[in-house]
Amino acid sequence: MLTDYHLHLRPDNAGSDAATYFTAANAERYRAVAAERGIAELGCAEHVYRFVQALDVWTHPLWRETAVDDIDAYAAFVREQTDLKLGIEADFVAGREDAMATLLAARDWDYVVGSVHFVGEHAVDHDGYEIWDHRSAGTDALWERYFETLGEAARCGLFDVLAHPDLVKIWGARRPAPEGDLRRFYDLAMDGIAESQIAVELSTAGLRKPVAELYPAPEFLRMCLDAGCPVALSSDAHVPGDVGRDYEAALELLERLGVRELAVFERRARRLEAIG
Ligand SMILES: [Zn+2]
Ligand SMILES: [Zn+2]
Repeated sequence: MLTDYHLHLRPDNAGSDAATYFTAANAERYRAVAAERGIAELGCAEHVYRFVQALDVWTHPLWRETAVDDIDAYAAFVREQTDLKLGIEADFVAGREDAMATLLAARDWDYVVGSVHFVGEHAVDHDGYEIWDHRSAGTDALWERYFETLGEAARCGLFDVLAHPDLVKIWGARRPAPEGDLRRFYDLAMDGIAESQIAVELSTAGLRKPVAELYPAPEFLRMCLDAGCPVALSSDAHVPGDVGRDYEAALELLERLGVRELAVFERRARRLEAIG
């Protein structure tokens, strides 16, 4: 069985309002593409910061701009009008774990996808709030902080899936990148990942970004597998046409690494299913 759990029912840009995109017909469009691509298990994971309740967790300017929808209306829509699993993409915000735990515990998710988009106040993947203009230390120091934060995200226990694990590479050659063996950075996250036994996402989204690689790098995934963690497979699609996009590349990597099962979730219980 193949999964695509990290789906967004709408693009990230302004104007993608809930009334237009949170409809049964729109969910059907995602389901139809998934069926064509042989993906049986689908779930959506909208960004937590699109919902007003997220402002109880963090009041970063990006969140204040985008937090307009009601999270309970979203959850009710998914449960009542779609056959998708109910997920959420929740940011790891250092120091706000208790507030995020309260938000998450009040709803009946099938799974929570945990993401590190920010290091401190600045984003690694958003050119409006980007960290690359603000870093006072070098590239290596930024990568160190990113992977330390990723390890904390795994360890905090709030999340079922660790999303796009090496997102910091998103810009590829357009931003400075460290040289040499990158495992010295990956290592900084591995204790948290190993202790938590979180499912590690293999995401094809990176292939659609400037870096043009899967998230994470094969060496990162190999380290997670050595630590005993299962894999969750997703596309991070924001439009129906991206559901399951480039899964051939992801499946080839999994085969090369000897992975034969994927993590499947229901009401925050995890089991493993054969890829098939
Ligand atoms: Zn994300
Ligand atoms: Zn996402």
